[in-house]
Amino acid sequence: MTIDMRSDTVTRPTPAMRRAMAEAEVGDDVLDGDPTVRRLEARVAELLGKEAGLFFPSGTMGNQAAIWALATPGTEILLDAASHIVEREAGAASALRGVQIRPVVGTPVMRAAELERAMRASAASRLRASLVCLENTHNSAGGKITSLDETRALAELAHGRSIPVHLDGARLWNVAVATGLSLEDFAGDADTVMVSFTKGLGAPVGAALAGDASVIEAARDARERFGGAMRQSGVLAAAALHGIDAHWPGLAEDHRRAAELAATVDGAGGARVVRPDTNIVMIDLPDGIDAPAGARAAAARGVLVSVWTESRLRAVTHLDVDDAAVRRAAEVLVAVLEEAGPAEAARPARSAARRTAEALNRG
Ligand SMILES: *Cc1c(COP(=O)(O)O)cnc(C)c1O
Repeated sequence: MTIDMRSDTVTRPTPAMRRAMAEAEVGDDVLDGDPTVRRLEARVAELLGKEAGLFFPSGTMGNQAAIWALATPGTEILLDAASHIVEREAGAASALRGVQIRPVVGTPVMRAAELERAMRASAASRLRASLVCLENTHNSAGGKITSLDETRALAELAHGRSIPVHLDGARLWNVAVATGLSLEDFAGDADTVMVSFTKGLGAPVGAALAGDASVIEAARDARERFGGAMRQSGVLAAAALHGIDAHWPGLAEDHRRAAELAATVDGAGGARVVRPDTNIVMIDLPDGIDAPAGARAAAARGVLVSVWTESRLRAVTHLDVDDAAVRRAAEVLVAVLEEAGPAEAARPARSAARRTAEALNRG
């Protein structure tokens, strides 16, 4: 059977999740409200320590509604150059809200010192800054966590200049599990926070935005404008609620498996693996192997990973890959890298089996 580790979005709703969806109490959420959607919105607002929550068909729309609500046309917004909003939302912030993006190159994720430098450049320009966006965990950097101290320093910089902060917390669930802190801790310094239900939580559709009631009302207008107001969306909210209850704690398993995969693959054929904070494993290939060829070779042996850049592969652990699948994926990746990698003499003599054993011992 194919092991699909291209993303944590590939999970299929479990039988229990499908049952929860089938049994959901619903109403017309545009006319007078859907009770299950209301329950989800209240739950998310409470978890994030905000006044109000709003259900969205996608995280992208949630991010864009936040930008709509908080940013001003003809201004700039500052955010990490490799963030989802910059790289993966089809230019929505400029196309829809008319803002210019000032991308901040992070190391690997935007830190306070880098934001401060960008803010100085922004202040020296004729363009006013109206929003700062953060991303935690940071997808492109390999599911990287921005610590609570760093998050606070970033938010303080923005708020010190009366600039609001939006947090793209699509995988904030992973941050809470990995750090042992609460969602509210990380959300506290942001004016709006988006969380996704379709990543580690395993729901088929949906995200939510939380913030002050007035900002969420503005985001509701944006959702209507973007065509994201839904009717009996309780069937979808039920999947999200089930995901929170049944799958959130299990993210710890995803993190353990990602660490195991990383430890096993690191060094194979000269590849370097970024030590994962959470569930995303970035594999940097040595000269001589290109990522598309590596991904094709792994796919031919039943393991799907994504091509992140020409020299970087991404493998993600999730609900539908258990210990056996992750071990098998590690074996395949090690074999592919060793066959394609530099000559035997150039790398440490550790067999794939030995690496797996070592990784397991490390727990
Ligand atoms: C997946 C993701 C989104 C967008 O969510 P969709 O529901 O796919 O639109 C936004 N930000 C980050 C960091 C993500 O990983």
